[in-house]
Amino acid sequence: MPAQCPVCSQAYEPEPGFYWGAMYISFGFSTGMMLVIGALVYYLLGDPDTWVYIMAVAIVAVLMTPFNLRYSRTLMLYLFGGVNYNPQYAEAGQAR
Ligand SMILES: [Zn+2]
Repeated sequence: MPAQCPVCSQAYEPEPGFYWGAMYISFGFSTGMMLVIGALVYYLLGDPDTWVYIMAVAIVAVLMTPFNLRYSRTLMLYLFGGVNYNPQYAEAGQAR
């Protein structure tokens, strides 16, 4: 992750330990994902053995880790980092 945005110079880590809170957002993502996968396995596979649930949830959790990490940090930055959309930089961002 770069230290700041190459277009508008927004600092991506406003203060040390800023992304500690992203852990809780990531936890929410993971929990929701596990509930959805568990329900899908239950209804699509007709309530199989417990190891099928565990394997399905584990595989999806590992595959979704990059998504989870990035979007929890992005949400943290937007919700608590004082980052706002500024149309002045929109064109510069598209040009790259
Ligand atoms: Zn920017």
